[in-house]
Amino acid sequence: MNLGRTACTLVIGGVAYRVVSNHLNAANAGPKSRYVWAINPEKCTGCGICETACVRTPSAVKAVNDQKKCSNCVICYGHIINKDIASDRVMSDGERVCKYDAVKRVAHSDDPDGYFFYTIDDKKCTGCGLCVKNCTDKGTHSMFLIIRPDLCLFCNSCNIADKCPENAVEQVYIGSEDDYKGEFGLESY
Ligand code: SF4
Ligand code: SF4
Ligand code: SF4
Repeated sequence: MNLGRTACTLVIGGVAYRVVSNHLNAANAGPKSRYVWAINPEKCTGCGICETACVRTPSAVKAVNDQKKCSNCVICYGHIINKDIASDRVMSDGERVCKYDAVKRVAHSDDPDGYFFYTIDDKKCTGCGLCVKNCTDKGTHSMFLIIRPDLCLFCNSCNIADKCPENAVEQVYIGSEDDYKGEFGLESY
């Protein structure tokens, strides 16, 4: 994942829902509005349905980690399962939460008890939600799922919204002023 794409993903992860949630109905969104589907992080439990319910394969849903909320822990609940492991053995012996090893851990210093950055490789993430569930249940709720606007097909009826047990997928309206796809130069794949 290149730096530009990393930045895009983090920006979208941090602001996407907050931007679009200003426009929960067409009347408030202005004459040139169009809708997108978005996941409300306050309702989503990371149940796993997003991975398979999307009409796209892989899903248009990806996990992101909000760096402003992350505690940059030595042991991350979204990264490894065996949290009692010695800090210097996390990378070699840590049992990964993500079956695709999409949650990346990068040390900020040489200290095994130091400060770590966690990011999610969107090329590997399938939107299964397990890292999000663990971070929400035990961590700081910094990891969450988004529907990527550059991947979503904007179906009239989102199949994930139909199946979501929490009613967490909402149709929201954005105008040209909110067109972050153009602003941040997102790529499709
Ligand atoms: S189906 Fe709903 S609750 Fe489950 S992961 Fe998707 S948005 Fe979250
Ligand atoms: S655990 Fe699931 S949601 Fe998290 S990065 Fe891996 S595939 Fe994506
Ligand atoms: S609108 Fe369609 S493409 Fe977009 S997340 Fe829902 S099912 Fe997937």
